Amino acid sequence: MREISRSVPVTVAKGDGIGPEIMDATLSVLTAADARLAIETVQVGKSVYERGHTSGMTPEVWESLRRTHVLLKGPITTPQGSGYKSLNVTIRKTLGLFANIRPCVAYAPFVRTRHPEMDVVILRENEEDLYAGIEHRQTDEVMQCLKLITRPGCEKIVRYAFEYVRTHRRRKLTCMSKDNIMKLTDGLFHQVFEEVGREYPEIEQEHRIIDIGAAQLADTPERFDVIVTGNLYGDIISDIAAQVAGSVGLAPSANIGEGDAMFEAIHGSAPDIAGQDIANPSGLLLAAVMMLVHIGQGDIAERIHNAWLTTIEDGIHTADIYDATRMSARKVGTREFADEVIRRLGKQPVQLTPVSYPSEAVAPPRISVETRPLARKELVGVDVFVHWRGGPPSELAALLNRIHSDAVKLEMITNRGVKVWPDGLPETFCTDHWRCRFKAKTPDGTIRHGDIVGILSKVHGVGLDFIKHESLCNFDGVPGYALGQGQ
Ligand code: NAD
Repeated sequence: MREISRSVPVTVAKGDGIGPEIMDATLSVLTAADARLAIETVQVGKSVYERGHTSGMTPEVWESLRRTHVLLKGPITTPQGSGYKSLNVTIRKTLGLFANIRPCVAYAPFVRTRHPEMDVVILRENEEDLYAGIEHRQTDEVMQCLKLITRPGCEKIVRYAFEYVRTHRRRKLTCMSKDNIMKLTDGLFHQVFEEVGREYPEIEQEHRIIDIGAAQLADTPERFDVIVTGNLYGDIISDIAAQVAGSVGLAPSANIGEGDAMFEAIHGSAPDIAGQDIANPSGLLLAAVMMLVHIGQGDIAERIHNAWLTTIEDGIHTADIYDATRMSARKVGTREFADEVIRRLGKQPVQLTPVSYPSEAVAPPRISVETRPLARKELVGVDVFVHWRGGPPSELAALLNRIHSDAVKLEMITNRGVKVWPDGLPETFCTDHWRCRFKAKTPDGTIRHGDIVGILSKVHGVGLDFIKHESLCNFDGVPGYALGQGQ
């Protein structure tokens, strides 16, 4: 009875592909290490999608999570096609798991890597960016995906990152973004990094454009310590980092929110090797170690992690890291690898550095987001997007110039963001998707919402198919919209 009362409820979902094999291996180690868990097993993924649940989840999963607040999850195969939503993204966003923590560590000389010193933690923003999943087909030729970046979202992940560096006694935080191109969205992420960074003067901090940052991470990962970045960039660079550290099969990940947490391997369901008992269970096992630390079972986490390090050090390797010419002693399958970890429970690695964990549960992050005064917002124009398959841009401009308005005048037309009227170049390739920018011509430089409704109606009136509009606003006098390329 006493044992049961000390057990911490957690929800476990085995997932698809190699998920059930690596989860069974992981659970066997947790059980052998006497992890104090009351496990609720739920079904998610392929079989649930096939039963007609487009999110890959059933209400029972949410009910279980409402009780446990902790999920250990195997990888999921997201069916192709627009009728299905990614279960992973749904869980992260629904539960507000804003921080994704992905440690990528080299285990040299036991696991082959060109970067023996590598020890990088990637902190990936987990809720926003292109993963908002807001996509539209707008014309015959053009699809659109909206990239949404919010100030609270940036503040939460950036502040979490600085706190992470401080509490984990790391030395440096690198921010990666593409703000040389996306000046408003990625520009906000970078700006928040600089603002919040001023409160952490003891932490070395730097910014890298994501493309050169990713290249340097692949080439000289030793130069990085902790990296904070956006959702898509973080997804991509953490796979690169895990692979150059040794294998994508080794890296765990924790998804942390203010109330709930989810732990999983960073790799996918690996359908190419499913059912063969050859997958490396280490990513999920190390994710379970992160879960144990999170729920205050640092003692068990330590036992398992050190036994795992000893297993790796003893050359007991799954196929993905096995290398007979180097430090591998024996190639093992998924189940046998777990058995070998179990045999080493209580042992400490000799060459690899043993880990130690605190025994208290990790306090949930309480990230305060600054409340800022509302900006003075002025409507100064409108971008009207039209689906038009006509002649040269001057023809479209002639159509639009037939519109009479006291409020706005046509300022420019762009195609895929490049200015094509006035003074466009004949070389520019044009598709059937045009952005027509109307700016205020009123004495005070502002317009009203009714003016936009009027313009849309007139655009329709000259026979054009408008597909959307974006209001152009100044915030405290600063334009909240980008110039056209070439403008
Ligand atoms: P993947 O990560 O499943 O596999 C990439 C390669 O790595 C494959 O060759 C695979 O055999 C190998 N690999 C992956 N994990 C391994 C392990 N533990 N041991 C040994 N080798 C391993 O990526 P993918 O093939 O692009 O995706 C397959 C499916 O997984 C897709 O449906 C994708 O949507 C899904 N996916 C799910 C998650 C998740 O649930 N968190 C993450 C990524 C991809």
